[in-house]
Amino acid sequence: MTGLPKGTNGTALLGRYEEVVGSAVIRQLRQLGRHLEGLRVVHVNSTKSGGGVAEILDRFVPLMNDLGIDTSWEVITGTEGFFETTKTIHNALQGASKGLSTTMMSSFESVNEENARRLRPLLEEADFVFIHDPQPAPLLSLCPNRRGKWVWRCHIDASRPNRKVWRYLRRWTAPYDASIFSLADFAQPLPHLQYIIPPSIDPLSEKNIALDDGEVRETLTRHGIDPDRPLAVQVSRFDRFKDPLGVIEAYRLCKRHQDLQLVLAGGGATDDPEGAAVLEEVMEAASGDPDIHILVLPGDAHRTINALQRGATVVIQKSTKEGFGLTVSEGLWKRKPVIGGDVGGIRLQVLDRFNGYRVRTPQGAALRLRHLLQHPHQAERMGENAHHYAKENFLITRQLRSVLALMAALQVGDPERLEVSL
Ligand code: UDP
Repeated sequence: MTGLPKGTNGTALLGRYEEVVGSAVIRQLRQLGRHLEGLRVVHVNSTKSGGGVAEILDRFVPLMNDLGIDTSWEVITGTEGFFETTKTIHNALQGASKGLSTTMMSSFESVNEENARRLRPLLEEADFVFIHDPQPAPLLSLCPNRRGKWVWRCHIDASRPNRKVWRYLRRWTAPYDASIFSLADFAQPLPHLQYIIPPSIDPLSEKNIALDDGEVRETLTRHGIDPDRPLAVQVSRFDRFKDPLGVIEAYRLCKRHQDLQLVLAGGGATDDPEGAAVLEEVMEAASGDPDIHILVLPGDAHRTINALQRGATVVIQKSTKEGFGLTVSEGLWKRKPVIGGDVGGIRLQVLDRFNGYRVRTPQGAALRLRHLLQHPHQAERMGENAHHYAKENFLITRQLRSVLALMAALQVGDPERLEVSL
């Protein structure tokens, strides 16, 4: 998937963002882009849809191409055993105690070897390779003739990893030229420079573009939701760290005092094998309550998710671990107060009482939910704050600027010269 012809720096796609972020931001991106024009960049991750990484790459790659940087996106393929292993690694980086068996390690390594055989010519020739998350991390060691700079991009809350699993992963990530984490808290001892670049949302994507009221109401009605009654919405993969059961508990506690409907919307990511079991638990916990809507959506249901978030009175993301939580920025951008778990990247996005509330328990979430439903003017004010905060900090143009600056710094061989941060 290569992009536009080279030398097209400053073309139509980027120009569309001008009306959202202003011309100075776009000018700066074009200036940075000019230094990198014609370079070949490859991003590698493990799923084309579902989850935050795919969401970002889907928007990021065309923009880099639009700047004249020849950018492609490759997805590694793997066996069921491989994805069970990588899910175990993901959970362990987020602190779970379950470790890796030798069978798991050999599946991790052999699947990467197979992918390396396919991708090696492209990766070894590239000027920059961005490897996202642990799944494809061994690729660097499997490309001995690489000529470009390689960056490991960790999207996970790795602040308190299972040490044994981290030590194993470190073997693969240490040789990179640099790594990027979403928050300073997540950085780990590694023998190269680490950069802090939070992820972002695209205001012009189907997921976030403005929708008219009629479409929002129609989408809610089509899914059996009453657009005239209060609604709390959490959009997430069915994953225990997203705490869907805690959200149902919070809803039930709140509902004792307050009319309320709840949507838990999610789908599978192809690299997440635990989803089905979690979904089953969620269905069971929700059964018998017609005001709880569990929506299993296809990977391309961006406009539906957009409408659900816009139709919400309050957006929830009650994670117990969270690398960043794009759904939080998605809610903020749509002028919703967000009730988020007091963890990871949510701490960066939700400022308590300013644009939402950070909570630790279902009881806390219920209390805040009830408060927002009973004080609509306050909720509206927080929603306005939310939109402006997301605009300042969490739009794709800001992330693009940081990544381009990082590339420019690595390119001139003085990576310490530039400090890239929010
Ligand atoms: N998402 C989606 N469909 C789903 C569930 C999630 O499109 O069924 C999107 C969601 O809107 C967000 C991203 O996937 O853009 C999830 O990113 P986040 O950082 O919140 O969580 P992750 O899945 O990466 O842990």
